[in-house]
Amino acid sequence: MRSWLALGVFAVVSWLAACGGSSPQTPSSPPPTPDAALATGTTLSVLSGENGQSVGGARLVVAGRTYDADASGHVTLAERVPFGSFVDVVAPGFLDRQTLIRQAGDTRFVLWPRTTTSGLSERYTTEIVYTAGTATPTPPGSSPLRRLRTGTTQVFVVLSEEIRQDSRAHLAHEEGVAMLNAALAGRVVYALAASRPASGIVFESRVDPADPLCAENDRILAFTVLNLQGEEATGGRVVFCESDATRREIVAHELAHTVGLQHSPDPRELMARFYTPASRRDFGSLEVLSMSLLLERHGGNRFPDNDRDVPASARGGVTIVCN
Ligand SMILES: [Zn+2]
Repeated sequence: MRSWLALGVFAVVSWLAACGGSSPQTPSSPPPTPDAALATGTTLSVLSGENGQSVGGARLVVAGRTYDADASGHVTLAERVPFGSFVDVVAPGFLDRQTLIRQAGDTRFVLWPRTTTSGLSERYTTEIVYTAGTATPTPPGSSPLRRLRTGTTQVFVVLSEEIRQDSRAHLAHEEGVAMLNAALAGRVVYALAASRPASGIVFESRVDPADPLCAENDRILAFTVLNLQGEEATGGRVVFCESDATRREIVAHELAHTVGLQHSPDPRELMARFYTPASRRDFGSLEVLSMSLLLERHGGNRFPDNDRDVPASARGGVTIVCN
């Protein structure tokens, strides 16, 4: 948005300059291309991903030059920074951030808390974001961050005929969507749909005990398949191995996988891999915070907090298995 605004202002200024001259102008002259860099004097800001507050005293290394943020978390660039330049941001209490300046809008750095008073820890982040909940879980921290496609504001959950006809399953889906929407606080809105919309991000929800994954392992309650492009989900499906699983908060659990959460290391939380009657019925504060934090990142971000090598367009998929 910022870059388009800047372009627009520049275009108006150019047009005024062109019309102000007394000699005829050539209408076909190409528009000037914007500088592929942040200009000298650009302000960068550093914020906490926990509460949006500025992080005073953060140290930034931008294209090899070191800056210390002021009490408001701001630094002013002393030189032009070409797109593609490395940025390192280090601040006490936050995971070291390693990223790039990719475009004109990359002036805001939201840091991922290392710990919070609410109980977030590096181990928790490692498990719930960077450990793929696949049938054979990956080593802790070794998986890329996977998330809904960047820029997604609406997701449709298309229910199978069987789920639509099952009032308890339908209710659990309504409740699951409501819980997820509350957790996401408007960043993304999930909605149920009876049929597949013409466009947009869609996850199908169905019961299929005959699916090979269900048939091979009777301990699997459900699984979620994400169709990925560059580690970001463009759609997928939620499959329940038994009808009863569709009538519980397991629905909300599966839908949170479509946002990007993996499994919680806390067996009491809703996102724990193993469902028990003692499991929480709603998302806890750490699960909500983790969703908020991961939506600030590109798919492909690596623990602790590095997105320099995110894949642009490689297609793939991942299946997250829940017991
Ligand atoms: Zn799960």
